[in-house]
Amino acid sequence: MIENQYVFKIQRYSIHDGPGIRTTIFFQGCPLSCYWCHNPESHAMPLKISMEDMDKAAVFLMKEIEKDLIFYDDSGGGVTFSGGEPLCQPQLLFRLLERCREKEIHTCVDTSGYGEAKVILKAAQKADLIFYDIKLMDEKAHKKYTGQSVATVLDNLKQLSEQKADVRLRFPLIPGVTDTNENIEGIMAFLKENIIYRDIHILPFHKAGEGKYNSLNMKNYMKDIQAPSKEKVEKIKEQFESNGFNVTIGG
Ligand code: SF4
Repeated sequence: MIENQYVFKIQRYSIHDGPGIRTTIFFQGCPLSCYWCHNPESHAMPLKISMEDMDKAAVFLMKEIEKDLIFYDDSGGGVTFSGGEPLCQPQLLFRLLERCREKEIHTCVDTSGYGEAKVILKAAQKADLIFYDIKLMDEKAHKKYTGQSVATVLDNLKQLSEQKADVRLRFPLIPGVTDTNENIEGIMAFLKENIIYRDIHILPFHKAGEGKYNSLNMKNYMKDIQAPSKEKVEKIKEQFESNGFNVTIGG
């Protein structure tokens, strides 16, 4: 079964994962373990894929993607590769991006930015749009709340910026974790000094994935945390805007 092994979910008619109506392919496996992750079932890495199985997976997934062609055409939509972390299965991702380009299907890769630079840069060349998370500037906090170093994420973003890839930034607004003034000011200072991108999406924390932690018997660090108030979200939006950023709330 291809779903569950390389891809854990296919979501149709998605309107929050890029322009227009989209089909979102959720790749299995993520090197991070963010406290607020809504897809904890995606964390385990898939088994190593053989070339033969990868070809079968790509054929299967293209069939699924092409079922929704009419919606992409009517809405200016396409397909979004998300996860988990799609860059964890680069060969499958590259194949799908190439096939979509051949068929003129708009593609978006939604990434944490944590991965090998050469993989991210290649994905950016093959995709039409990259959604790129920027979470925490402080190395200690990034390691604590995501399990990995921020240095790789920032360095890869610099390289994408130098390559002038089409990138939209995403900032998960997590109460008590990413919403401190120090973190937000740090993010803006880094972006203004190093990065060409000024479009940023604020993704307010919500509790949609909560039930999964119980069923997977995983610790839910966010169980007592509530979604941020509208006022708080609006205040942070204004903070980014007054520093020259174009802000969208949500996907
Ligand atoms: S990067 Fe995304 S999929 Fe991976 S743990 Fe963090 S929120 Fe979950």
